[in-house]
Amino acid sequence: MARLSPMDVYKALPGINCKKCGVDTCMAFASKLIEREMTPADCPPLDEAQYSTKKTALLKLLSPPVREVVVGSGEKAIKLGGEEVIYRHELTYFNQTGLFYDVDDSLPADEIKKRVSAIEDFGVDKIGRKLKLDGVAIRCKTGDAASFGEAVLAATEATELPLILCSYDPEVLEVGAEIALDKRPLLFAATPDNWEKIADVALKNNCPVVASLPGDVEGLLKLSRNIRSAGVSDIVLDIGTNTVGDGLAETINNLVILRRLAVEEELAEAMYPILGVPMVAWIGAESEVDAGFEEATIAASQLLRFCDALIIHSTEMWQNMPLLNLRLNIYTDPRVPVSVESKLYVVGTPDEKSPVFLTTNFALTYFTVASDLEAAKIPAYILVADTEGLAVEVSMAGKKITPEVIQDIFSKSGIEDLVKHRKLVIPGVTARIKGELEDATGWEIIVGPKDSSMIPGFLQKTPIA
Ligand code: SF4
Repeated sequence: MARLSPMDVYKALPGINCKKCGVDTCMAFASKLIEREMTPADCPPLDEAQYSTKKTALLKLLSPPVREVVVGSGEKAIKLGGEEVIYRHELTYFNQTGLFYDVDDSLPADEIKKRVSAIEDFGVDKIGRKLKLDGVAIRCKTGDAASFGEAVLAATEATELPLILCSYDPEVLEVGAEIALDKRPLLFAATPDNWEKIADVALKNNCPVVASLPGDVEGLLKLSRNIRSAGVSDIVLDIGTNTVGDGLAETINNLVILRRLAVEEELAEAMYPILGVPMVAWIGAESEVDAGFEEATIAASQLLRFCDALIIHSTEMWQNMPLLNLRLNIYTDPRVPVSVESKLYVVGTPDEKSPVFLTTNFALTYFTVASDLEAAKIPAYILVADTEGLAVEVSMAGKKITPEVIQDIFSKSGIEDLVKHRKLVIPGVTARIKGELEDATGWEIIVGPKDSSMIPGFLQKTPIA
């Protein structure tokens, strides 16, 4: 699919440049729509009758080839799909793969609540971001609707995380959907045998639904077409997760076919998010370590090959850290450097004699400097300059560290009231602008080491106060 141009979108806007959206022109607004920084709802004139045809055209134009399906409600709701491209480097990915962890209804309510809380509390800090798990998949293992209902109730009492309700029995799913009515759970799953009844449950309870037919792309597309014609618009596709023999290769191949049909062919019945179930690795596994290893491998493969949601069993840190890191890498927008706010940061409890360091607001640079100072137990101030998210050397090459930028962070930070000395330590690679910075700040500029891990040794030789 050709990438939308601002002109394409502009043609579907009122074109009156009224500025009610807060942007100066309709053309500028068109660019913001393409980048998903704003939505059609931000343009009030589009609600006027005279622009209704344009609004319809605009909504059609902006619908991504992979429909965005919302699971859950409130702040913790998750968007699945919504992607424009097959590979991230073609643009960016918008909605990261949702990671759902299973509980089953054979467990007592207390155990369910405990596991659900563990899923919700799981979190790791990485370069200023919290890496979290996204939801809970409740499996009906007992086959009993009442037990399933109790499990759903226990889970909803313990968490606001989005839910996937798992059963092939429409009556079981109906009980679960009614209990989780305001949570908009994802129903797993409609098959060629039960889809009419599951579609009814989905429509009655306003839930998205998974169309599932392992290993049969043609059959899955027919199933999704049927569910759509029954009136369900929010569908997620499950082509199965097969690990027997060459099953994983076949699974990955099918995932690629589905995404190509959606993005390149714009085949309506394929234009939905995709679900993978790496937890099949636990079926018949010889040991927990083997199962966990295989599950992590499958999950990583499916995350790389377009799955928008995964159902996983293990919450072990060793298994999930690589997956969370992989997800962070894949779903980081390549067009935008990862940055931190430009401001004054403190490490430990600095006083008026503590050193003041300068660095840039590229997230990895700042966190490396801060963690090196923390590890060495050096209380300090760090002035983080706004270099548009670029690292130190790149900022130098691109002239982003300038006297004006440094003056700006100086005046914003109030650093002159916090220390009595007037010495600023700058990164070693910025040595050549020492003189300019001295003129700009009136402080003594000290050229520090090129690598922040060398700061402790540097301070021993160069005391600040
Ligand atoms: S509110 Fe709509 S019509 Fe007005 S300038 Fe913005 S995009 Fe154009």
